[in-house]
Amino acid sequence: MMKRSEDLLGRCPEPVARYLHKLTDTSLAVLDGDGVVVQCNEAFARLFGADPSTVVGDRAERYLSGADGIGLSDGRQAIRRRFNLQCGPARGTALDCHVFHWRDGCVLFGRSTFESDEEVFQQLTRLNNELSNQSRELAKKNAELLRANEQIEQLMRTDHLTGLANRRHFLEHLEKAVADAHRHGRSLSLAALDLDHFKEVNDEHGHAAGDDLLAALGEVLQEQTRKEDLPARIGGEEFMVLLVGADCNRAAVFADRLRREVASIELSCADICVTASLGVAELGCGESPEDLMLRADRALYRSKEAGRNRMTVAGT
Ligand code: GH3
Ligand code: MG
Ligand code: MG
Repeated sequence: MMKRSEDLLGRCPEPVARYLHKLTDTSLAVLDGDGVVVQCNEAFARLFGADPSTVVGDRAERYLSGADGIGLSDGRQAIRRRFNLQCGPARGTALDCHVFHWRDGCVLFGRSTFESDEEVFQQLTRLNNELSNQSRELAKKNAELLRANEQIEQLMRTDHLTGLANRRHFLEHLEKAVADAHRHGRSLSLAALDLDHFKEVNDEHGHAAGDDLLAALGEVLQEQTRKEDLPARIGGEEFMVLLVGADCNRAAVFADRLRREVASIELSCADICVTASLGVAELGCGESPEDLMLRADRALYRSKEAGRNRMTVAGT
């Protein structure tokens, strides 16, 4: 039986007692000097899946670890204690308490770290939303990274002055194209082009004008080639065009047209007349990419030797 003096809630004004009893987030328990629960509110009992009438009369240590002897210690000061719940659905979770001495026992006001299903659900929803946002952000960053990588790769295979394929990319492409042509028995030709007396352009009109001319030649090559062909700047004022599916006759027609187009280039910055010498070679049976390039180059130099501004077809 609870002594009158231990009836803490009974000593409060009635609305306060009712409030303390019905509090949902603060657990309240009154213990006597022997550590027995003499009174508790609904929140305290609910922690252990019980109602207050079942908990009252039990020793507090049955519910709270380390509750043995609380309230017996020093004086009248409030202390803070953390207990672990010994039973009930929230077993193992903590109850953070303010302990006040009361008569020869004490009063506990505690806040449980145990979260209700609703709180757990809300937290999960929050985390889930956060995860979705992070995933969306990550997908966006990945797409940006992919685009940046593509741009880097594009830059790595492009000659910056003309926008054409550079030597490295051309050689890789040539190797594949030669292998394909051999495998499928398809024609493949190569046209090599070198500007005539280009050094004089630089000397007479300046390096910048020379650059403009190279860029203009790049445009001509883009315009004159089909999308399956690959024009490239091999270095300096030397260019090559890979002509997929073209035999040497078609390659010769292409190269001569190119020669005429080069001769008609006009620059706005300077009055420059430029010509080019070309050589073409058709891929021979079992021929390597290196040998094909060598024959196209030799044909080009025969054009140079023969007086420039002309096109020569390589023999087999
Ligand atoms: P050839 O008819 O025998 O080919 O004579 P060429 O003057 O065209 O050949 P040469 O090899 O003597 O000179 C090539 C010149 O191309 C020299 C070099 O300064 C110039 N050149 C190479 N790369 C560039 C470039 O990126 N920009 C400019 N403006 N000039 C370049
Ligand atoms: Mg030259
Ligand atoms: Mg040269």
